[in-house]
Amino acid sequence: MNLLVVSTPLGPLGSGRGGGVELTLAGLVAGLLQRGHRITVLAAEGSVLPADCTAAQLWTCPGEPQLSVQHQGREALITMQADGLLARFWRRVLAEAPAAGFDAVLNLSYDWLPFWLTPTAPLPILHLVSMGSVTAAMDAVIAEVAAWDQRRLAFHTASQAADFALPQPPVLVGNGFDLSAYQFCAQPEPLLGWVGRVAPEKGLEDAAAAAARVGLPLAVWGLLEDQAYGEAVEASVPPGTLQWRGFLPTAQLQAELGRCLALLNTPKWNEAYGNVVVEAMACGVPVLAYSRGGPGELVQPGLNGWLVEADDVAALAQAVGQVERLDRSACRQWVAQHASRAVLAQRIEAWLKGALQP
Ligand code: UDP
Repeated sequence: MNLLVVSTPLGPLGSGRGGGVELTLAGLVAGLLQRGHRITVLAAEGSVLPADCTAAQLWTCPGEPQLSVQHQGREALITMQADGLLARFWRRVLAEAPAAGFDAVLNLSYDWLPFWLTPTAPLPILHLVSMGSVTAAMDAVIAEVAAWDQRRLAFHTASQAADFALPQPPVLVGNGFDLSAYQFCAQPEPLLGWVGRVAPEKGLEDAAAAAARVGLPLAVWGLLEDQAYGEAVEASVPPGTLQWRGFLPTAQLQAELGRCLALLNTPKWNEAYGNVVVEAMACGVPVLAYSRGGPGELVQPGLNGWLVEADDVAALAQAVGQVERLDRSACRQWVAQHASRAVLAQRIEAWLKGALQP
């Protein structure tokens, strides 16, 4: 197939502004290239394609980044800059894609405009939905596409898809990771880890409180999206509990993350998937997570981590004491079996083939 993959308008690939979508795009593009498909990526100016995606063509657009929809409140109206990245991306798709011979456009951005365009667009647009329900307007437009032709939609996990009004059982594709980019670390240090955008929906405060209870430091990797929130979390625990490590490229992130005894994953929202959960496992790091959203499906209790009731900090702290019962190599093994790039590419290919049938 000849596919146009549209990235997020939140910022350039490689900046971290796109959250998990950036890694999803890398896995998906590399996996599809390996299976012999032709790929063009449309992304913000300044984007850098990862080394194993350079066989893809890169189209870029300048423009202001879109505001992340999950920080606008449930009843937020649909907003976009007149000449921002979102508007430019989709003008370019409509103007250039039909003549360029693409079989389909694969949208990875969680924005109203591409969903709204789908039923009337001059070529097939398919969407890998990257979040659960965050606004009423997005819920409505996703339900509208589903009612028109649900084959155009795929989701990462069942918990995520359950947020939406879907007439048929959802297509679930999970996500795909390059195992060779993550080194297995057999010997951890007395250190807990937390990875994610530092923003309220990610629940860093609970992981910090659990770390303080067990008296272990918590290393924090990720983009400081909400500074006031980050400061409030820092102030909520004894000094020295949190080690702020910043946003690192995957190669460095995994080298540091692998040394952790466990990853704490404490989302406050219905996390669609949880890339960081699988990245930790790929390094051999067990995951202690709330039984909520994607992480609740990825963590297999007793095998690659433990699940505790959502928002129960005491139970999370208690689970730290159970980490030594887990085999670190089983964590990595689980990723190889269930979340490799090859697995993702096969699922995406099957989805696209089904959706493009008349
Ligand atoms: N990430 C990274 N470097 C860091 C911290 C995070 O590259 O220092 C990436 C991480 O690999 C993951 C993404 O940020 O792919 C976060 O994705 P996730 O699905 O966990 O959450 P999202 O931000 O999409 O809500």
